[in-house]
Formats: sequence, C-alpha cells, structure tokens
Amino acid sequence: DAGTPESNVDVLIIGAGPAGLMAAAWMAHCGVKARIVDKRGTKVFCGQADGLQVRSLEILESLGFADRVWKEANHMIEICMWNPGSDGIIRRSDRIPDTIVGLSRFQQIVLNQGRMERFFLDNIAKHSKNTIQVERGVLPESLEIDESKVEDDSAYPVTVKLRHLTEEEATPAQQISASKVSDGLFRSNLVKEDDEDDLIRKSQSRPGTGEVVHAKYVIGCDGARSWTRRALGFELQGEATDFIWGVMDIIPITDFPDIRMRCAIHSAENGSLMVIPRENKLVRLYIQLKEVVPDESGRADRSKITPEIIFAAAQKILSPYKIDYEYCDWWTAYQIGQRVGTNFDAHERVFLAGDAVHTHSPKAGQGMNVSMQDCYNLGWKVALVARGIAKRNILSTYQSERRRVAQDLIDFDHRFSRLFSGRPAKDVMDAEGVSMEVFKDAFEKGNLFASGLSVNYGPSPLVLKAGDASAQGDGSKVVAAPSTSGDAFAKAQALAPGLPVGMRFNSYKVLDQASARPWHFQEKLKADGRFRIILFAGNVLSASQKPRVDRFCERLNAPDAFLRAVTPKDAPIDSVIEVLTVHAAKRTETELLRDFPEILHPFDKHTGWDYDKVFVDDVSYHEGFGNAYGNYGIDKERGCVVVARPDQYVGYVGELEDFDALQKYFEGFLVFPSAAAS
Ligand code: FAD
Repeated sequence: DAGTPESNVDVLIIGAGPAGLMAAAWMAHCGVKARIVDKRGTKVFCGQADGLQVRSLEILESLGFADRVWKEANHMIEICMWNPGSDGIIRRSDRIPDTIVGLSRFQQIVLNQGRMERFFLDNIAKHSKNTIQVERGVLPESLEIDESKVEDDSAYPVTVKLRHLTEEEATPAQQISASKVSDGLFRSNLVKEDDEDDLIRKSQSRPGTGEVVHAKYVIGCDGARSWTRRALGFELQGEATDFIWGVMDIIPITDFPDIRMRCAIHSAENGSLMVIPRENKLVRLYIQLKEVVPDESGRADRSKITPEIIFAAAQKILSPYKIDYEYCDWWTAYQIGQRVGTNFDAHERVFLAGDAVHTHSPKAGQGMNVSMQDCYNLGWKVALVARGIAKRNILSTYQSERRRVAQDLIDFDHRFSRLFSGRPAKDVMDAEGVSMEVFKDAFEKGNLFASGLSVNYGPSPLVLKAGDASAQGDGSKVVAAPSTSGDAFAKAQALAPGLPVGMRFNSYKVLDQASARPWHFQEKLKADGRFRIILFAGNVLSASQKPRVDRFCERLNAPDAFLRAVTPKDAPIDSVIEVLTVHAAKRTETELLRDFPEILHPFDKHTGWDYDKVFVDDVSYHEGFGNAYGNYGIDKERGCVVVARPDQYVGYVGELEDFDALQKYFEGFLVFPSAAAS
C-alpha cells in the first residue's frame, strides 16, 4: 500500500541469536550500515546453549569481550567417565583433561547463552555508536531477489517486507502452564510448526505494521526452523533418531562425588547422562529419556514430557547415588537428529548461517560455537564487499568453507551421540552394546574437533594453497583458486610449518619492540576487517638479512604496489592491509627507528611514529619466552612473509622475495581503485 515506508540498507540480518549477533558485530566493527530484526520481544535470559569452545574464545577476544565471558563463566578442566562395573553399579573409570593441553591459551568454559547475547549487544552498541540495535518483535513476511541485479555492486537486489508485532505477539507462550519454571520447548525441535504465519496474519489486520526494506545483502540467522531458508526453498537434509533427551539446569543436592566435573555417565540399563557444572552453583544435566519414544510420525509427544519425568530418569541413571533439587532455572527436551542445509546462499546475496543450516544434538556443546563461527567467516566478507573494498568473488568461499565444517560437525555428532546414547557393552562379545574404550577414544579425538581448531579451509582466492578447489567434499560451487603448483606450495609452506595455510593463526607470546611488553600475538589480530601481512623479518641485524628486509619494504612502499593501490586516497596506509613485523634479533640490540624501514612503523604528523607494529621474539622479564619462531618452525635468520585474513586464518606464506606472488594474491580479491596498479 502507498503509505508503507520503504528504505535501503546495506545488510539486513534476520534473527538475533548467536549467529545473527556475530554478523551484526562484524557490521559494527567494519562500519557497515546494517539492521538486525528478531521476531521475539526479548533476548534469551536463561537456558539454551552454554558451552564455549576455545576457538570461540579466541574470536570473542578479537571482538574485544572474551575477558567478560572468561571472568563470569565456569571453567571446565576435567572430564570424568562413569561406567557400570560387572556388578552393574556405576563407578568412575577415567579422567581426562577437558581441553587438550597446549592447544590454545584458553580452555573450554560454560556460560549461558543469555549472558553471551548481553555481551554481544554491548559490543555492537559500542562499535556501531548505537546505530545497530536489535529491532525486536519484527519479522519478515516476504523476500524477493531481483536476479537481473545480483552482479551489480551498487544495487539493492533483495526486497524484504517486514511486519512489526505487538509486545504480546512477540512473547512466546510457555508450553506447560503448570510449570513455573521457564521452559525452552518453544524453541525445541519437538515443536512441529512455527508460528510465523499466524503472527503475520494477526498483525496484518492492523494498519501501519508493514515496512519494505531493499537490501544489498540479507543474512538469515533465524534458527533451526529458519523462515529465510524456507523462503528460499532450501532444505535441511539428514535424519532424526529415536533418542529423546531432556535438559535441566538445577542447583543439585547430591552425594554424587563428581557433580562439579563434566561427566559422561553410562548406566547399565537406564540410559546415559551428561553432567555440565555451570556458573552460580548451577549444574546442567542432559538426560536420556528411555520411556519417551517417538510416535508413527517419528516425533515424540512433547505434552508427555515434564520436568518430573526428566528428573526421575536422572535419579535412576545416577543410582545408587542420590540427587535432588529445590531450584530449577530452566528445562527443555529435544530429539537428536543431524541435518545440514543443501545451500548456504542464494546468488551470493542472501546467506544462511547457524542452526538455519545445521542442526545436531546439543551435548557436544557445538551449536552456539559453530553458529558464531559461521558468521565470523561470513561477516567480514559481506562487509568488505558492501564497502567496495573486496570483490564479490570472495562471497562464494562462505559456502565452500563452511558447508564442509557443517558436514564434519554432523558426522562427528552422528558418531558421538550414538556412542553416548547406546547401552554400554557387557563384554567383548556384546556387539549391540557400546565399548567404553571406543567411547573414550572417540571422546578424546572429538575434543580436538570440538575445540574448533581443526578447521582447515581449502584453496580459494583467499587461501593460496595447492589442491583442487572443486574437491571441497561438499558438492558446493567451484571457486576458482589461484594456480599454485603442489611443489611451489610445499616449498612456501615449509617456511612456516607451524602456520598451515587455511588454518587459524596460532598464537605465541612476543614482545613489543618499543615497550618490551609481552603480547599474545593473536591479540594483535583484531576483528576490524583488515588483512594483515606479518613480516617475520628474521635477524634484522645481520648483513645478509637487512638488505632483504629493506628490499621487501621498498617494493611494499612502491606507489604502484598493492598496499598503496588498495588504500583509499587520504586514508592511513594501514586502513585496508596492516603490516605487522616480528623479528628475531636481540631486542636490546635493535632500535625501532634505526633498524626498521618507515613503512613498518608509519609516521603520522599528528601522532608520531606507530609503536604498535613491530614485535620481537625474545625473552620477557615476567612471562618467559614465547619462542614464536621455534614454534612456527620459521628460520630465525631468514624469516618469511605470512598473510592473516580478517578472521585470523592464514591465507598465504612466502619468501621475502616472492613479492609478485603476494601482489597477485591481493589482486585476486581486493578492489584496486587506483588505475595505476590494475
Ligand atoms: P538461534 O539461537 O536459534 O537464534 C535464532 C533467532 O532467530 C532467535 O532469536 C529467534 O527468535 C529468531 N527468529 C526465528 N525465526 C524468526 C523469524 N521468522 N523472523 C525473525 N526472527 C526469527 N550450543 C552450544 O554451542 N553449546 C551448548 O552447550 C548448547 N546447548 C544447547 C542446549 C539446548 C537445550 C539447546 C536447545 C541448544 C543448545 N545449543 C548449544 C545449541 C544452540 O542453542 C544453538 O545452536 C544456537 O543458539 C544457534 O544459534 P543461531 O543464532 O543459529 O540460532
């Protein structure tokens, strides 16, 4: 109708769970005009996801709020395995560290999703100067893509009609009114249909509730029953199992000795239970419900599931130990299934992320993590393309990189949840039972995957490595990879074997050359949308190395080389690509201004030299020796050049002399506004 307001926005994000908030955070950090809407009237306050893996913590640190999460969370240090003995009574059979030792400077922690969302909202408000705020009680009712305009950088080809709800409409009904405790069933997969159609129909009858938005890009982060996914006609593929699990967050009163440890408990006949110790004396129990079974439709009847039934099952599994509670914070139930989306984007204009493209059991503590990590991969790409800094060709790497991770996650969860839900084997001849050795082995191996640190992205314009870009293992679109032969790549990678191209930039402590302060190097790889060249300058004091460093800097500084070509006129030289240096000479024998070319610590007439760009791999006064060169496997004399993408993944490794290859790498996906370089 004529009075309906219409507006343009660069990026519209649908859904403000962990995935949507991560997308919004990138837009805030990169200065992109964006809106984020959610059909619910309030954020999550309790329950839902709680596990935060180490990669997620590294990511939150790059956004600037890992410290808040780390402080408030409960830290998970040890896992105890409980299994039935030959007498059928459960006992502790093993202890293993919860996070593989030495993997990261962080360990796995737990904190409820509501607090995470709070921290995100604060961070987004700060970095967007309050211009990006979640608009609650708003949902889309139609989405159209003008295909004739999808390749036009300046176009707004996606049109979304939005509806604004009343507060009452935006409040989900609790499923069981007799229960005073908030339940999460309205978000559980046991609920068959969602309520969008109903909500839209109701609000349509009131005038002034509609709005039309033209967007350059839309990111659908609207959860497992994603409206956006359905609007695009895409599906989740996979299967549901017959295993039904209940979840309760309680303050337990118990004589079970390991209630403050993460525990995996297999009882002989009564099913399995997982104990997750939480903040504020809370403990989360994941409880297998053997008595609740799906009907012919394959779904369990949720009206039969109450906190009493769930807790009785927990008491049985834990017997002969006693457990009770007076306070329950939240509870829910779900049916285990593993499904992954057929497509992650439409025309590289509308993207799907998080639960909208992969669902699985929550016990491995992955959903919130992988969902955030999806948007940590996608957000900067969309932001840089929307700002005209990067070409559209980087957008197809979202699906090629993340769909494989989703597939791996589904496979991992499939194995893990069957092992966890299965009855323990009575002896080696018991083929139907689950061997507890196999379970422990899977658990230990699974920990590396679960940490998020085993992700290794395939070749693409952003990841210069050998290999067949079409062999992404996920049937996704082929991304043209710059040609690099296997031999050339192996030679380059050998310069820094501890920084595998395609994996996240591992962190060791280095010292700031100017101040001697130790930093974890990853702390310098902030989420601000910039690419970073890390010049491992080697021994800058040696007569053979100094000219190599000088020559590299000369080429970097040349007016027609990529660095100046990609930097907008009048913007600081580090606006699009930042150059950081880590050298290996002795700190006390080296002088910042004498031994390093100016391009490595640029001068600003208002603020002087930049003292925050040159670091040294040397011994600190108070925090030992990081031995970064040793750990990365880099030659301390000769060094090398590494590129970290804005999301901290290694994109390129080469010699100081391989400048042409570096130039070509950036030409592959950055926009060169200055004609001189193109
Ligand atoms: P969601 O968090 O589901 O967010 C989607 C958002 O979109 C919601 O705010 C919703 O209101 C909104 N929305 C939906 N439809 C529309 C629409 N049409 N229009 C506008 N907005 C819409 N994960 C872990 O990592 N660790 C755990 O320990 C863990 N435990 C879990 C325990 C339970 C009991 C459950 C249910 C899940 C658990 N998860 C866990 C999974 C985790 O909660 C999800 O994977 C994660 O929240 C997914 O994030 P998301 O942003 O993709 O989706």
